[in-house]
Amino acid sequence: MPEEMPDRATFDAVYRRSLEDPDAFWAEEARKLDWSRPSDQVLDWSPPFAKWFVGGELNACHLCVDRHLATPRKNKVAIYWEGETGETRVLSYATLHREVSRAASVLLNLGVGKGDVVALYMPMIPELPVLMLACARIGAIHTVVFSAFSASALADRVRETEARVVVTADAGVRRGKQVPLKPKADEAVAHAPSVEHVIVVRRGTADVAMQDGRDAWFADLLESADDSVPAVPVEATHPLFILYTSGTTGKPKGIVHATGGYMVYAHSTFQWAFDLDENSVYWCTADIGWVTGHTALVYGPLSHGATVVMYEGAPDYPDLGRWWEIIEKYGVTAFYTSPTAIRMFMQHGDEWPAKRDLTSLQILGTVGEPINPEAWHWYNRHIGGERCPIVDTWWQTETGSFMISGAPGIAPMPQKPGVAGHPLPGVDAAVVDENGKPVPDGEKGVLVIRKPWPGMLQTIHKDPDRYQMAYWSRFPGLFSADDYAVRDEDGYIRVLGRADEVLKVAGHRIGSLEIENGAVAHEAVAEAAAVGVPDAVKGEAIVVFAVLMDGYEPSDELGEEISGSISLSVGVFARPKSVHLVRALPKTRSGKIMRRVLRAVAGDEPIGDVSTLENEASVEEVKRAYEALKQEF
Ligand code: ATP
Ligand code: MG
Repeated sequence: MPEEMPDRATFDAVYRRSLEDPDAFWAEEARKLDWSRPSDQVLDWSPPFAKWFVGGELNACHLCVDRHLATPRKNKVAIYWEGETGETRVLSYATLHREVSRAASVLLNLGVGKGDVVALYMPMIPELPVLMLACARIGAIHTVVFSAFSASALADRVRETEARVVVTADAGVRRGKQVPLKPKADEAVAHAPSVEHVIVVRRGTADVAMQDGRDAWFADLLESADDSVPAVPVEATHPLFILYTSGTTGKPKGIVHATGGYMVYAHSTFQWAFDLDENSVYWCTADIGWVTGHTALVYGPLSHGATVVMYEGAPDYPDLGRWWEIIEKYGVTAFYTSPTAIRMFMQHGDEWPAKRDLTSLQILGTVGEPINPEAWHWYNRHIGGERCPIVDTWWQTETGSFMISGAPGIAPMPQKPGVAGHPLPGVDAAVVDENGKPVPDGEKGVLVIRKPWPGMLQTIHKDPDRYQMAYWSRFPGLFSADDYAVRDEDGYIRVLGRADEVLKVAGHRIGSLEIENGAVAHEAVAEAAAVGVPDAVKGEAIVVFAVLMDGYEPSDELGEEISGSISLSVGVFARPKSVHLVRALPKTRSGKIMRRVLRAVAGDEPIGDVSTLENEASVEEVKRAYEALKQEF
């Protein structure tokens, strides 16, 4: 970086200090929260198990709610909730406090205590964050299960976590229809003997079967609830929640996060990446069923006393203007979404955002997958008005919050589209080879973290051996994120995708992302996924599946052109064996392309665990497209 960049120097000074004396650095960050008992020790590290802020006591609900009551934030908006059909609910910090206390009282009255697990299988309604905070208030552990999951996915998670209570709703609302939830909860609970009570929140209007003695309406239970339940301090190491990963690469893992480390990390990273404070109106479009929704809709922004926007519906319902209308309506200052969503909007043109005044926006963010430069530029121009920094936040369910990202809250730094950025303070990230040795800058390798950080997972629920195996065995002493990356001469890290998404073609190691970026560089392509299939000559041959922009028709010529675009941007050795034009790609419900499904289709292998698949039809679609072309080989 040229020397005339004082911002870089500011950032570097913070970063250097954070790695040279992590204990002092994190102790200082921790002091930004309220502790009812300060910790005796910042970190107790017996690899690979970390205990952060040992001896300290705090309460996550107090941090997100109660502590604002003694300030002018008391009567400012904590949550703007917008229903799909335009209903709204507004909770100030004072009313949030009342609702959370009453919900905590409901749980206590059902016998829920510290350490008990409560499963929340709920649509995107305010009761969901209210119940998460209510659990935290009494030291119960929440496990949120995305409401579009099947009964069996819910049953697995409830059984594994031995939840005593399941909270659900009669129904959710999606694309103008009520989607029943309670029947799925019933089916799951029938296979989960740990469950003693089912609480049902009324969201829809349909009749619901209630089982005597087990089920109760939330509204009825609230009648005898008390609104002065105190937030009980818990040990910093007490689990705050268990959350399952997206299942992009295999069976989802039950990630356990501890209260102290997670809260310190969520709080600090939200200030660094989003420059968040009490004046921010923050909108994260993720469902709370994912870690993004936990940290970016609840614990991060509320711990800062920011205003959070929460939206229930689909992005394109009733039309593609819905999100931009919400930004205008609430004067959103920071907006956080996924590359998948951006590509979807890009596919349908820029007239929708153009209809709205988006000038309240100050910072944009993306998460979930690498963002291709085309989508980055579209986001920058059509949403950010070329005025807003874009933070491309790389993190995982396991990491609690952002690890690699821009940090406008520390110092504005040059942005590189498609490159996540520099590791954040305290994050000792490196890119290593198969032996765990750092590779030279500019070379690809596996992304690892060399030092513990407060937001790190505590373990995999009830399976410390799997925790050790999954994250710490590939490179002893290093946390392996299993993503593939390259670091540049400025110390910025470009994430290339999962480590298992590397193709080895004629002696070259290519990330699927590089090939996909080559495909998306063609004006007709909205989205693409590349996978390798065994090939006698090349080792692996490349097969590409592509979704077209509106207004383009599939044709052999177009397939050829897309191949050409890949050769041009990656190299002729990366010319695909075949390009399949499809209407949809198989994605997880969190919006990530499931390349392993494509690989299985293309390699004629079993498809494996697809419990988190978004769209069943997409699998048939890619099978058909593949079969059709296979005839021609
Ligand atoms: P599973 O671990 O069960 O396979 P998953 O990894 O998709 O599922 P998450 O924890 O939700 O579950 O996702 C984390 C992953 O998402 C990261 O490891 C990375 O591959 C990808 N990711 C997240 N943010 C970014 C980003 N900004 N750039 C590139 N990749 C990202
Ligand atoms: Mg993962």
